[in-house]
Amino acid sequence: MSASLAVPEPADPPSGGKNPIVFPVVGAARYFDDWGDPRGQGRHAGNDILTTWRSPAVAAEDGKIRLWTTSSRAGCMLYLYGASGTTYLYVHLNNDLTAKRDNRGTCAPGVAYANGLKTGSRVKAGQLIAYNGDSGDAEGTYHLHFEIHPNDGVDANPRPYLNEARRLLFPVQPLVKPVTVGVKGTVTSAGGGIVELAVTSYRVWPGGTWVTIPARTLELAVPVESVVDESLVDLILSPTRRTLSSRKWKATKVVAFTIPTPATLAVSAGEPGALSVDRIRPG
Ligand SMILES: [Zn+2]
Repeated sequence: MSASLAVPEPADPPSGGKNPIVFPVVGAARYFDDWGDPRGQGRHAGNDILTTWRSPAVAAEDGKIRLWTTSSRAGCMLYLYGASGTTYLYVHLNNDLTAKRDNRGTCAPGVAYANGLKTGSRVKAGQLIAYNGDSGDAEGTYHLHFEIHPNDGVDANPRPYLNEARRLLFPVQPLVKPVTVGVKGTVTSAGGGIVELAVTSYRVWPGGTWVTIPARTLELAVPVESVVDESLVDLILSPTRRTLSSRKWKATKVVAFTIPTPATLAVSAGEPGALSVDRIRPG
């Protein structure tokens, strides 16, 4: 077979898994293989990530922001010029003041964009940059149209990047003091200095409110100084880790509060052991 007929080698995975991007939406998010689909205005150059009204959009990597508010089709959007050289587009950001799709919000700080964000702002991976919505020609379907342009060139399919991206529990907060995180969920394994929960809601202090999320696993460290409710001691402080498949423990619902910690990427992503229990009680 001649070389000219050879099928091109598939592109390398985006990062080989070593340095995945941060998933650009926090909370409920579904996406499909819709890159390259024919659309009314031409080829679809990104993935549409279906989400909920005003869900946080976060920076896929460290980079610099350019706001863009004058496209009738894109609505409120922004560019993130990543430190790696990749450019990301965030399109159809929120323009509603209420969940009734009122379109009264304009592309303003606190509505479409994170407060204080300007063209030229430098952001950290995972930092809140915008709120998702349905501006432009997305009217009626809350989603983030997300594009990835490696080397600031032509668009690539975001899907493999999204598949391996780090999913955050809450946005990274590079400039604020340590945060305390509250989580509610069901114990899935415990002992040996850890407790693993299927978390269904969380709250970040200072300032946050309880947020319900699709259940996700979170492994918390349990240091010796943790305050464990008496009724949970046998379960949580077992010297060896046990997976809780037995009926006895299956529905043990708890609420845990963490030791204050800076909201770094590892903490915001809920990496195993990045958060430590300060106190835990039945929830
Ligand atoms: Zn789209």
